[in-house]
Amino acid sequence: MMQTVYTFGGGVSHDDSRTRDKTITGGKGANLAEMAAIGLPVPPGFTITTEECLRYLRQGHDFSQQLRADVAEALRHIEQAVGKQFGDPADPLLVSVRSGARVSMPGMMDTVLNLGLNDETVQGLAATSGDDRFAWDSYRRFIQMYSDVVLGLDHGQFEEALEVAKEDQGFYADTELSASDWQALVSQYKDIVAKELGKPFPQDVQDQLWGAIAAVFSSWDSERAKVYRRLNDIPADWGTAVNVQAMVFGNMGDTSATGVAFTRDPATGEKAYYGEYLVNAQGEDVVAGIRTPQYLTRAAREKAGASAPSMEEAMPDAFGELARTFELLEQHYTDMQDIEFTVERGTLWMLQTRSGKRTAKAALKLAVDMVGEGLIDEKTAIRRVDPMALDQLLHPTLDPKAKRDVLAKGLPASPGAASGAIVLDADTAEQRASKGEAVILVRVETSPEDIHGMHAAKGILTARGGMTSHAAVVARGMGRPCVSGASSVSIDLKTRRLRIGSRELAEGDVITLDGSTGEVMAGEVPTLEPELVGDFGTLMEWADKHRRMKVRTNAETPQDCRVARQFGAEGIGLARTEHMFFDASRISAVREMILSENEAGRRQALEKLLPEQRADFTEIFEVMAGLPCTIRLLDPPLHEFLPHEDQEFADLAAIVGQDAEQLKRRAAELHEFNPMLGHRGCRLGITYPEIYEMQARAIFEAACDVAQSSGEAPVPEVMIPLVATRKEVAILKTLIDRTAATVFEEKGTTLRYLVGTMIELPRAALAAGEIAEEAEFFSFGTNDLTQTTLGVSRDDAGRFLSAYVEQGIYPRDPFVSLDIEGVGELVKLAASRGRETRSAIKLGICGEHGGDPASIAFCETVGLDYVSASPYRVPIARLAAAQAALQE
Ligand code: ADP
Ligand code: MG
Ligand code: MG
Repeated sequence: MMQTVYTFGGGVSHDDSRTRDKTITGGKGANLAEMAAIGLPVPPGFTITTEECLRYLRQGHDFSQQLRADVAEALRHIEQAVGKQFGDPADPLLVSVRSGARVSMPGMMDTVLNLGLNDETVQGLAATSGDDRFAWDSYRRFIQMYSDVVLGLDHGQFEEALEVAKEDQGFYADTELSASDWQALVSQYKDIVAKELGKPFPQDVQDQLWGAIAAVFSSWDSERAKVYRRLNDIPADWGTAVNVQAMVFGNMGDTSATGVAFTRDPATGEKAYYGEYLVNAQGEDVVAGIRTPQYLTRAAREKAGASAPSMEEAMPDAFGELARTFELLEQHYTDMQDIEFTVERGTLWMLQTRSGKRTAKAALKLAVDMVGEGLIDEKTAIRRVDPMALDQLLHPTLDPKAKRDVLAKGLPASPGAASGAIVLDADTAEQRASKGEAVILVRVETSPEDIHGMHAAKGILTARGGMTSHAAVVARGMGRPCVSGASSVSIDLKTRRLRIGSRELAEGDVITLDGSTGEVMAGEVPTLEPELVGDFGTLMEWADKHRRMKVRTNAETPQDCRVARQFGAEGIGLARTEHMFFDASRISAVREMILSENEAGRRQALEKLLPEQRADFTEIFEVMAGLPCTIRLLDPPLHEFLPHEDQEFADLAAIVGQDAEQLKRRAAELHEFNPMLGHRGCRLGITYPEIYEMQARAIFEAACDVAQSSGEAPVPEVMIPLVATRKEVAILKTLIDRTAATVFEEKGTTLRYLVGTMIELPRAALAAGEIAEEAEFFSFGTNDLTQTTLGVSRDDAGRFLSAYVEQGIYPRDPFVSLDIEGVGELVKLAASRGRETRSAIKLGICGEHGGDPASIAFCETVGLDYVSASPYRVPIARLAAAQAALQE
């Protein structure tokens, strides 16, 4: 039988590697054990394994005999280490009960502090501490937390009772309440519980403990936790650990304190201690926004112009100890740490450490700085940065030259800029965002219930809360700009209006946030394109050094090509020519072509389109000078281009000199029952070769022109879409080669080009060996390949696919992250059959998956030559490709 419980601290040695394995003891538990093992002051405790959580949930919410025995023994370990007994009325041991999954996870049960207090032990605590006020304050905290998170009572009632008590006495801060005030509140709290539950607050300390353990276990299956898991791709079978730990007290008077800190600045990555603390306070007080926390260092305090003394000034000894701990932790973990600590009567205790969440900007600076400091090497630096996080930096920032109508200033809690309509609650945010509207969520402060709204919003503004408030931490994690603690914001949820600074606004009004400065502005402020300079540039250079696959882009406008090239694209992986057909200046020629009754009519219309297409390709080839450019011939079914309204038909009739009714009839003939599987892709080229001929001509003429004018010849790669058989490719390749020969003769020059196919039908993957006899390259069109392999229409998947992901049928949305078991198998098969026929065949991927790190990692294992991603994802793909290469 596997051990169900592991102890830490209190001088035990940890020889079992499972103790420090996050998959077994969770992130919090593993790190507590690790800190204790390197000699840091950690209050003794024990961790119940994640395995035990899963067992409990599977086996009808029953504790196993072994767990009961192991917990009893581990509790004795704490009692011995601390020298107090759990439930001893004279001198009670108190514990915290803390959840802790592998990764920190909002939605899990909140921590319960001071567990073990009851009507008797509170007297013992008062006597041994010599501080009645402290004892009763701790007891009321315990009742409130336990009632909220374990008993499921609404915390509003408790807060109301506290507010009334403060008002009655004319107090402002909680710290002003005396021992007897707290004692009176405790009996009120107990009355509330008895009234709500119909039974008294549990006085038996064992009942308290097991109640809390059960609540942590069960919280793994709470709705909040499920939502978070879905948004973050966390599997349901991880489970959570439970940590039970001896209490240390930051609320024992003015030589005690509690705080949170980062070993470096998590917003910028600067090497400066960063954090907040509160004197005479416990646990969550710092982040709860009840009192305004103070700065850790004197420098930070002075920079902010604050007067309340920093920890460095108020508690120099404990601060010195903390600073030494920071250094030790960074050396040990070789990464920036996010820590929680408490000072009890001058003595420092460490309560948590983990790798600190950081903005993308900080992630890059930390990685580059730490290589400079010799803490990590380049490869580790590359692995450290989450490619998707770069997304934050790849979006426009506010134009410094733009006029800013600043309404208010709050804390720069999460960088980046965003504009959008004000929404005042999470549900409204989600509703309006789902209709494509950009929204800014404005709240007094946020809580885990707001997560879905924060996710939907472009930015978050809160009236209360510091740099480590819920809003700030979650926004940084999600990469949303956030301004927190903008105290001049006041919200009236009844009228749905709000005041920001001196101005009145309503829900729906547009504001702009700058999460890097904390500014809140009226209206929409213009933005600038990002650049890959500084640390970003350095890390990208390292990534390029270590990656094997090339990175191209999916782009067809000159502007997109330019952006992609600036971001390091090494060619075009997919230029979709149909986008060019939609242009207002050409759509009527396109329609004329489609509606012609015969080839002569089509050729006439195509004549008009040729110069336009040539101009498009010329621009693209100029931007991509010297690089390979894959151009896909017309792919979508023709009726996509047709008019719908009567007026449009009338206009077209006038232009082409035909009868509108006749055009309508012809359009109706083109109707298809299943256009996705209909007359599209290379089937167009087979039936109307003149279309592909015109496109090929435009490509080769443009390429010759650019080669002549710039001296840098592009390498056109002409791609035939939706191929199923060798014969299709053979027929169309002949057409393309013939067109190329004609153009080269006309121009008196030649250039290198390739003809290849998209592999996007299962039959094409199976027949890849024969297709490769004709095709010089394959590009995996994984959007269609996913559709056709899964038999799932991408346009209709919305109705059921999320249920599939929720139930774990597909681990992730297969249109976002490649279905490796199914579609991936076809890719592997096609790659190997293609290579067997033509060993030097060029292989790439051009579906959406080319910008998804997990899919990129798969492409590396298949040995593809390149991935192709949308322009703003090119840097993400470069980094992901490097990480994939390092994993091999
Ligand atoms: P979270 O994951 O929400 O941070 P934690 O379990 O870390 O939850 O605890 C919440 C707060 O309670 C933190 O400030 C933490 O430092 C504090 N805390 C937890 N356990 C103890 C303890 N044994 N003694 C004192 N404070 C504690
Ligand atoms: Mg914590
Ligand atoms: Mg396709």
